[in-house]
Amino acid sequence: MNAQGENSQRELADVVRHLRRLVVFDESLGFEPPTLSPSALSYLERKHPRMGSLENLREYIGDCTKCKLCRGRKKLVFGEGSSKARLVFVGEAPGREEDIEGRPFVGEAGKLLTKIIESGMGIGRKDVYICNVIKCRPPNNRDPEKDEIETCLPFLEEQIRIINPEVICALGRIAAKELSGRDFHMTKERGQWFSYFDIPVMPTFHPAYLLRNPSAKRQVWEDAKKIMKHLGLEVKRNG
Ligand code: URA
Repeated sequence: MNAQGENSQRELADVVRHLRRLVVFDESLGFEPPTLSPSALSYLERKHPRMGSLENLREYIGDCTKCKLCRGRKKLVFGEGSSKARLVFVGEAPGREEDIEGRPFVGEAGKLLTKIIESGMGIGRKDVYICNVIKCRPPNNRDPEKDEIETCLPFLEEQIRIINPEVICALGRIAAKELSGRDFHMTKERGQWFSYFDIPVMPTFHPAYLLRNPSAKRQVWEDAKKIMKHLGLEVKRNG
């Protein structure tokens, strides 16, 4: 396919993504979804699977080869935790350890995230849900590219639709950008709620950033306390 063809494919994928968001939103408000022709429906279904459960979605994704990241990955990192989680954490993409284990946030940044969740917020890691925008490790942990995000994002959207949490915590700029649907400036905008459809999202620094800038832990703790307050959880310590 030439560059122009690829561009229009991408634009079409964008339109479909936004259309689907609207349909899901309308349904959640009790509106009937619009009547689509069988071919339009099957196109949407192929682009954006609607699965009843996380297990079905995982099965559907299988050994995904939809984008080039499949070539370098060891294991696809789908996500883990409770399908009934009140709180979902969304990171960027698996790193080296996650790629080896097939589980999200198990490396150094993951250990810090687990500490924030368990020691800080007083919630079990197994009681939240943890996943990423991108399910396969980008080479040398580079930022995910636009086509990779476009291909993988429907899986995250479906995970969130299935879990339907009370709060989402966006870890880092990429997660905040994809959930807000616009460019995101983390140092300016962290700690301020926005909405992913009708789900409140708290954007905060990525734990990997905290490893490099430990003084930012105070700000993340402020953000974590806002989430706890929203969930009606008691804040026992001050940082
Ligand atoms: N960083 C992420 O964004 N996600 C992981 O799963 C691990 C590190």
